[in-house]
Parts: sequence; structure tokens; C-alpha cells
Amino acid sequence: MLRKIKETTGKKDSHQRCHIRKGDMVKVIAGKDKGKSGRVLRIILKKDRALVEKVNMIKRHTKPNQTNRQGGIIEKEAPLHWSNLMLECPKCVKPTRIQMQILEDNKKVRVCKKCNEIIDA
Ligand SMILES: [Zn+2]
Repeated sequence: MLRKIKETTGKKDSHQRCHIRKGDMVKVIAGKDKGKSGRVLRIILKKDRALVEKVNMIKRHTKPNQTNRQGGIIEKEAPLHWSNLMLECPKCVKPTRIQMQILEDNKKVRVCKKCNEIIDA
């Protein structure tokens, strides 16, 4: 059997550009939290993943330490792959695909494919 080719070859793949930004509302379209939506807390560019508030929660067992003397179980968000997320348009409040558009002043903005409104202020 062939070994899977390493995905991180350092080459920039233009098709894998992230359409999601910190602070965006996104909807989960695959995985155990499918259907949930939340706000993007963090983008992890190197791993093509995003951390979404209250989505994909995992339980972490922690040992007692100086800040948490009892230890125990804490719940925290685990990053999700971008392909499992869809941007929720703030204008039409629907999960949507986006299109990049360059304005007259060379500013790149994201445009909702459903309502054609500019998402970025
Ligand atoms: Zn829209």
C-alpha cells in the first residue's frame, strides 16, 4: 500500500485559501457537531483549522497543578477543519459560499454568493 503523501509540503495551494476569519459566525456542516453554529475564536493557518466557540468540545483530564489544585475534567474547544465549516452571512443569516472581490481601492472583500452583499465592512 502506498503511503499517504505528506500534506504539508510547504507549497502554498491557492485553492486552500481560508475564507473564514476570526470573529465570523460559522455553521458546522460535517462531523459530530453538524448543524451547530458559533463564532470563530481562532484560526490555525498552519493546520487549516479553526477554533469555534462551543463547538467540537472535548474533555481534557487535567492533573492538579498550581492554578488548579484539584485537577479534574475541563471542557475545551478542539479545532475543526475549514472544510467542515461554512460561513454564515451576517446579512442574510444563512450559511453561504463566498466570493472574493477586489474593490476600486484594491481592497479585497468577501461577498456572499446568496445575497451578493459585501461581508467585510
Ligand atoms: Zn448573504
